[in-house]
Amino acid sequence: MTNLRQIPSVDSLLKLPEAQRLTEKYGREWTLSALRSVLQGLRAEPAPEIAIPGDQEILTRTQNELEKQALPSLRPVINASGVILHTNLGRAPLARAALQAAAEVSAGYSTLEFDLGGGKRGKRDFHADRLLRRLTGAQASLVVNNNAGALLLVLSALTKRKKVAISRSQLIEIGGGFRIPDVMSQSGSHLLEVGTTNRTHLTDYQTALEQGASAILLAHPSNFRLTGFTSQPDLPEVAALAHAFSVPLIFDLGSGALVDTTRYGLAHETTVPEALAQGADLVCFSGDKLLGGPQAGIVVGSAELIEKIRRHPLYRALRADKLALSVLAKTLELYLSGRWEEEIPVYQMLARTAAQLDLQARAWQADVGAGRVIDGFSTIGGGSLPGETLPTRLLAVRVKSPQQFLASLREQAFPIIARVEDDQVVLDPRTMLPGQEAALLSGLRQALGDYKEIK
Ligand SMILES: *Cc1c(COP(=O)(O)O)cnc(C)c1O
Repeated sequence: MTNLRQIPSVDSLLKLPEAQRLTEKYGREWTLSALRSVLQGLRAEPAPEIAIPGDQEILTRTQNELEKQALPSLRPVINASGVILHTNLGRAPLARAALQAAAEVSAGYSTLEFDLGGGKRGKRDFHADRLLRRLTGAQASLVVNNNAGALLLVLSALTKRKKVAISRSQLIEIGGGFRIPDVMSQSGSHLLEVGTTNRTHLTDYQTALEQGASAILLAHPSNFRLTGFTSQPDLPEVAALAHAFSVPLIFDLGSGALVDTTRYGLAHETTVPEALAQGADLVCFSGDKLLGGPQAGIVVGSAELIEKIRRHPLYRALRADKLALSVLAKTLELYLSGRWEEEIPVYQMLARTAAQLDLQARAWQADVGAGRVIDGFSTIGGGSLPGETLPTRLLAVRVKSPQQFLASLREQAFPIIARVEDDQVVLDPRTMLPGQEAALLSGLRQALGDYKEIK
């Protein structure tokens, strides 16, 4: 045991000017608890021959402890994984202009629910609604907290205690515990499964309608692909059938692209305007997937149905806040003005060419003096365009323990998220945001240096 009597007391340490500075910066509570934990560590040190560190050293350790504790747990990282809509990293990064709008609206008071013309109460959905109607051709819209909430709300308001027909191939589970059958039962709707896992025919839906289905629900498979001996009737056919029975066709579109994804060399995704034009009565989708905006659940479609949904008490419980609404409205404006590709990060990333990415990866390699530049693939992620990839160029670093090196990248001051492929650590320039390059390179150099020491 160390000589306990040599360990200075908390009180005597707190009187030192350095301790005063720490108290001013971090507050008395945190400083005290950090100091106590450093002293506790000293008491626990087993070897008696180790000299007790001086007061300065104790305070330096206290400061390190405080700095660690003061780091926010929710903080920015550099996404070098090549997954554009990375669910664990916050899905869609936001456009600068949209963030600016949120800052302006939220720092003070706003017209969130105020009609400047009449000087009276307005609707919070109004701001996104006028843009959504123009962009999608819908009669009406509403916005809630996320798409899971949107679907729960739609079903609760329209099909409670009623039967809803859905294909067995669309009883999906996506990340974060979202399962279509569970959402349906939570809404009080009764699931009427039609077709088989791989094949569903129009007549299957017809049978369900004859059995009293009060709506047809289509759900985008989002994170898997059905291939082989499969079939699904086309959207216009299902819509015509639903309408012949006077029931609504509800389409959980998931990602909700507003523009044609084939522009970026990806498969065609039914866009929101297409889904409506092809007969869906209601389409719901996320704000932070291919739309590239804030977390939100957007419902567009029939004015009559939307009005009914808006009157349901769950709407009040799930409504979007002013931060999300201001970001959403600005993001939608970028589509209307044709500036989405220049300003929305998801589209900036989709639009990067292999030649640009090659230049960037080579510049990284030259800077850090390690690794090789190889061909690879970026993915969309976030339950969008499953199986679709974009050719990219990667900086590949071969190290003895890829997992250890990944951990070292995550420990950098600006944490870097990379991935392992063929036993190499690979970094994809596609998902790095402008302005992050210096931090990425210094973190990478540091990790490479540390790693050599580890070995
Ligand atoms: C992503 C997704 C959801 C859930 O959306 P959130 O905005 O994450 O709540 C629901 N349905 C489908 C088909 C999806 O792809």
